[in-house]
Amino acid sequence: MTFPYKDPALPIEERVADLLARMTLQEKIGQLCQTPMLDFDQHKEAFLDGVRQGRWGSRILADTAWAGNAPGLTVDPVELNEIQSAAVEDSRLGIPMIVARDVIYGQETVLPIPLAQAASWNPELVEQSYTGVAREAASLGIHWTFAPMLDIARDPRWGRVIETNGEDPYLTSQFARAVVNGFQGESPANPDSLLACAKHFVGYAAGEGGRDYDTTEITDNTLHNVHLPPFKAAIEAGVGTLMSGFNDLGGTPVSGSKPLIQGWLKTEQNFDGMVISDWGSISDLAYFGVTRDAAGAAAKALDAGVDMAMTNEAYEGHLEELLQEGEINEDRLNDAVCRVLRAKFRSGLFERPYADEQRHKAVMRREDHVAGALKLAEESLVLLKNRNNVLPLSKADLTVAVIGPHAHSKRPHLGSWCLDGKIKDITSIYEGIQANIPDVNVITEDAAFSDEMVECAHRADVVVLCVGESHRRTGEARNIAELTLPAGQEELIKAIGETGKPLVVVQCTGRPVPSPAAEQFADALLYAWQCGTEAGHAVARVLFGDVSPSGRLPITVPRSTGQIPMYYGRKPLGKMRDFQDYMPYKDSNIEPLYPFGFGLGYSTFSYKSLSVSKDTVKFGETQQVTVVVTNDGQVEASEVVQCYIRQTVADTTRPERELKDFRKITLKPGESREVTLTLTPEKLSFYGSKQCFHQYAGEIKVFVGSDSRADDCVSFDLIKG
Ligand code: BGC
Repeated sequence: MTFPYKDPALPIEERVADLLARMTLQEKIGQLCQTPMLDFDQHKEAFLDGVRQGRWGSRILADTAWAGNAPGLTVDPVELNEIQSAAVEDSRLGIPMIVARDVIYGQETVLPIPLAQAASWNPELVEQSYTGVAREAASLGIHWTFAPMLDIARDPRWGRVIETNGEDPYLTSQFARAVVNGFQGESPANPDSLLACAKHFVGYAAGEGGRDYDTTEITDNTLHNVHLPPFKAAIEAGVGTLMSGFNDLGGTPVSGSKPLIQGWLKTEQNFDGMVISDWGSISDLAYFGVTRDAAGAAAKALDAGVDMAMTNEAYEGHLEELLQEGEINEDRLNDAVCRVLRAKFRSGLFERPYADEQRHKAVMRREDHVAGALKLAEESLVLLKNRNNVLPLSKADLTVAVIGPHAHSKRPHLGSWCLDGKIKDITSIYEGIQANIPDVNVITEDAAFSDEMVECAHRADVVVLCVGESHRRTGEARNIAELTLPAGQEELIKAIGETGKPLVVVQCTGRPVPSPAAEQFADALLYAWQCGTEAGHAVARVLFGDVSPSGRLPITVPRSTGQIPMYYGRKPLGKMRDFQDYMPYKDSNIEPLYPFGFGLGYSTFSYKSLSVSKDTVKFGETQQVTVVVTNDGQVEASEVVQCYIRQTVADTTRPERELKDFRKITLKPGESREVTLTLTPEKLSFYGSKQCFHQYAGEIKVFVGSDSRADDCVSFDLIKG
C-alpha cells in the first residue's frame, strides 16, 4: 500500500501530517540534524548505515566551518545518489535527504561577489544571473543553498562585507527578492531551482570593531528600521529557509532568541519555513554562557525556534533525553519536524530525490550563463574618478602597460566564497584586454613590485595598474584593522604615478578601501571588486569604452579607518552642527571619500522638472515622484536615478536621507526620459516610539539625483487620512 505522504496529489500539509504521525522519536530527531559527513570515503559504510537509520535529515557539502575559505570537497552526483538511495530505498519511511552547499554567487560560472552585484543597482539582471547559478548547482544534485546573505554592513573592516549588498536596507531588500526569485524560480521543486536560505538572522554584520563573531549591540529602533527589512523582503519573496546567526545581540545570542525567531519571524511574519542554525551557533550558547552545557544549548535553541542544527551538534546527542526529562516541549519538537518535512515536500524531493548524473555536463558554463555573468560584471564596475577623461582608452596607436599584483591574478577575482569555480575559466585583466582589444599594443611585467615594472610604465603611453586584495584577505574570519591596501601597494601606485604617465588604477578589492596614493596620482580609478570568472573581459570592455561604466557604490568609501562607521543614512548631528568652528574631527574631513550611490560613466546626465503628484498625501496613499533625465554626453550610457526621502519631524529621530526607490535607465546621446519613482505607504512608514511600524504626519522632503548627495528637492505633507 502507498502511504498518503507519498501521494503528490495531496496538499503538502496533509502529507506532512501523515508522515509525522508515522515517525518514531529517533526519526524525528534525525530530521532535525544536518551532518557534514566528513571523511565520507573512509567511513562510507558507517555513514550509509546512519542514513538508513534516519539519523540525519540533511547533508552539508562543506568540509570546514570556515565558510568558503577552505574548499576541498567537490560535488559528485553519483556519490549523492548513492547516499540518497540509502535514505529513500533503505530507511524505514524513505524520507529523502536534503543536500546543502554554500552556492553563494556561482557554481562554475561565477558572478561578481554580492557587494559588487549590488553596485550594479540592477536587481533584474541579478535575478536572471542567479537562475543560471541555480541551474548549474541543481544539475549536480544540490537542493539547498545558504544564500542570500542579507546582513547590513556598515563596517568594511569586517571580512564578510564581500557577501553583503552593502550598507542600505532598501537596496539590500531589492537584491534579497532578486536572489530568492533567481534561486527558487517559480518553485524550488523545479529541477533547475534551489531552495534558498536568508542569513544571518540577524545583526551579525554589526560585530564590534569589524571583528567577525564579536558582540553586537543594536537598538530596537535600528534593528527594525535597518537590519530586519531585508529579511521581511526575502520572506515576502517566499524564501524557504532562514539561518540564525552566530552573534550575541545585546545579551541574547540570536540562535537562542525566542523573541526574534519564534516571535518576530515565525509569529509576526508568519514564516512557515525552516530555520537552521549557523555552524556551531547552538553549542555557542553554552560558550557564551547563557546556558551550562550542550544539552541546555539544544533546549534553548529548540525553544527559541531553531528547527535544524547545522552539523548535528547539540541536537543529535540531547533532544531525546531532553524530551524524556520534560525539558523541551513535544509540540515544539513536532513543529520543527514539520518545518523540515515541509521544506522537503516543497523542494519536490519525494518526487525527484535523485540527481541526473549526466545533466551537469550540458549545463555548466552554458553560454547564456556566461553572457549573464559578463553583463553583471560590467555593470558592477564603479568608475570613481576620470580626470581629463583619460578613460575610455583609445583602441589604436597606443601602448598600454598592464601591470600590478592583479594584472595577471585569477583566483582573487572569485572572491573568498567560491567553492567550485575553476582557474581555467577565469580571465585575468591582462588576458581580458588582449582578447577584447586585439589592436592595442599591450606590454606587461611580472606581478611583483620591481624596478622593471616602473621601467615598463616608462615605455607605455598609458598605464593600467591593477591593485587590490587577494581573496584570502576577505571572507569569514578575515577582518582587517586598517582599511588600507595590502602592504606595498600605496608605494607602488606612487612610484608608477611619479613616472608622469597617464595612470588608470583598477582596484580589485572585496571592500571599499581608500587609497591616498590613488587619490593623488591616479587619473582614473575603477573599482573592479572581485567580479568572478568574467572579470577580465568586463574590465577590458569598460576601460576601452565598449560599454560605459554604470555601477554605483552600494557602500560608502570612508577616507580613513577612523571615520568608521561612515554611511549615508546618518541621524542628524546634535549641538554644535551650525558652529563654523566645529569639526567632528580635528584631523580629518567629515565627508566620506566617495559617497553611497556615487559612480561615473562616459556621459553626463541632467535632471529637470522634479515634481510630486500630490502636495498632500494621506496615510495609506502612494506618492509618485517624476523627473526628466537627459543624456547630455556623446555616448549611450546608463544612469541610476536615485530617490531619497527625509522625514523632517517624527516621534523618533530619522536618518537625514533614506533611499526609497531607484531606476536604472539607458539613454542615447541627447535622449531624455521621464522617470517615475514611487513612495508607497510602506516606504513612508518607519518603526517608531510605539514599537511598531507607523506613519507620522509631517513634511517629507524628496531628493532625486545621481547619488546620496542629490540636492534637487521637492517636499509634500503627509497627513492623517
Ligand atoms: C557561515 C555560514 C555558512 C555555513 C556553512 C558558517 O561558518 O557563517 O554563512 O552558510 O558556515 O558553510
